[in-house]
Amino acid sequence: MKDPKITFKDRETAEESLQPERIELDTFTRPRKRVFIFLLLVTSLLLLGLAFLLWWVPFVGLANIHEWVPVLLAVLLSGIVLVSLGAVLTLVFTIVRGKNLFFNRRIRGVVIRVVFPLLVGVGRCFGIKKSEIRRSFVAINNQLVMAEAQKVNPEKMLILLPHCLQNHDCDVRITGDVQNCKSCGKCKIKNLAALSEKYHVHVAVATGGTLARKIVVDKRPKIIIAVACERDLTSGIQDAYPIPVFGIFNRRPFGPCYDTDVDIDLVEKGLKTFLIN
Ligand code: SF4
Repeated sequence: MKDPKITFKDRETAEESLQPERIELDTFTRPRKRVFIFLLLVTSLLLLGLAFLLWWVPFVGLANIHEWVPVLLAVLLSGIVLVSLGAVLTLVFTIVRGKNLFFNRRIRGVVIRVVFPLLVGVGRCFGIKKSEIRRSFVAINNQLVMAEAQKVNPEKMLILLPHCLQNHDCDVRITGDVQNCKSCGKCKIKNLAALSEKYHVHVAVATGGTLARKIVVDKRPKIIIAVACERDLTSGIQDAYPIPVFGIFNRRPFGPCYDTDVDIDLVEKGLKTFLIN
């Protein structure tokens, strides 16, 4: 059977081969990247237009003060625009090519702290749902996390799960220790506990954002593989920064927060991608 992990292209250099094996990007990112890139480019155009206005309006009046003032302002604004465009193009290149750029970690920070809130506002003007932008954001974040090329030992990895994965009828207390699961098979906690044992990785179940933050502070992981809905993954990625969070969406066949499900194969692929062999 074909190894589901990652493929190395023959032409990749030895340096590139040090990067973590890449999960099939299609699985996590392809359907959602377009929204993010679209909003990014639209925002850039809007900023470009704003910069032009900021130059043009004073130009009409400033020329009366001194003939060089409008030119100096144009040079200044052009510099700002060029730097901004350079940053946007670098980000787009990173997203499209999945290459590990030397300031990748900083770019992830800018995306999380600045670009995402900006795009939510722009997306609202275009009638794009917040949940769709969140899905796109998580997909882009995943790609940047993969591009960061970080591999860790099992004790430095944390799998963070939402409590709604547990079957609603089960009264076993798994929030303290997932290994308390009796492996009855009514929910995927059984499989996730088995993965934890197989790869010697911490698995924790959080009932909310506060507990999730406490778990992260206690465990001090270097990378987190988180399963949750769009909203919780987005806030979790923002809260945990600079710790990289690889997000996997849960499935909600019975609606939100009730007997949810997760693709175990995706979780295992994530483990294999970021664990030192
Ligand atoms: S698999 Fe574990 S957590 Fe899920 S219902 Fe059974 S005992 Fe409870």
